[in-house]
Amino acid sequence: MNKNTRVLILRNFKRYFSNSKIELNYCSLFELLIFIMLSAKSSDIQVINVTKKLFLYISKPSDVIQLGFKKLKDIIRSVGLFNKKAIFIFKTCRYLIDIYDEKIPMDIDQLLQLPGVGRKTANLFLNIVLKKNFIAVDTHVFRVANRTGFAVGTSVNIVEKKLFRVVPAKFQSRIHTWFGLHGRSFCKSISPKCSSCIINTWCEYFNKIKK
Ligand code: SF4
Repeated sequence: MNKNTRVLILRNFKRYFSNSKIELNYCSLFELLIFIMLSAKSSDIQVINVTKKLFLYISKPSDVIQLGFKKLKDIIRSVGLFNKKAIFIFKTCRYLIDIYDEKIPMDIDQLLQLPGVGRKTANLFLNIVLKKNFIAVDTHVFRVANRTGFAVGTSVNIVEKKLFRVVPAKFQSRIHTWFGLHGRSFCKSISPKCSSCIINTWCEYFNKIKK
């Protein structure tokens, strides 16, 4: 895909999604981190419902330790991979207490040291908090980037690097939101809505299947 085509896609995303937001339910950096950690393999609605209850009990890492692992697990039971997520959240809270005096570090390398925090979580967290160009590649971003031919890669790290290379700086902070919304509304994993898709003119997948 060439540079001009990418710009046309980005302009369409901007026009279509400029007033849309991915819903996040949080009041502090700690809550935001927990919200993002719970988001993998779960719908926004599931995470919003779980955090509505969870954040009644916790507002800092030591609250999680006080709550206890079993209760934490019970509260987040309706999100995907809840057992693994409970383990990671518990370990991360201990780490934040021991190393950072309950504060959340604002550096990507330090964030990546937290148990269960990978590049997607760290990038999304910093993108939201610092409003800077961190591109979080989740399953939707990965799928849209590959299917369209916008940034092809076999792993999320490769796609992240390619997106950084090909997306103009002024659009980079919006990529996660636009690709995510597009992946949820049109470019679904099963049965993408190609015929009504807002960028089908430039999509490599669509141009291949319609031949
Ligand atoms: S045309 Fe289809 S495959 Fe291409 S971006 Fe749109 S929904 Fe996805």
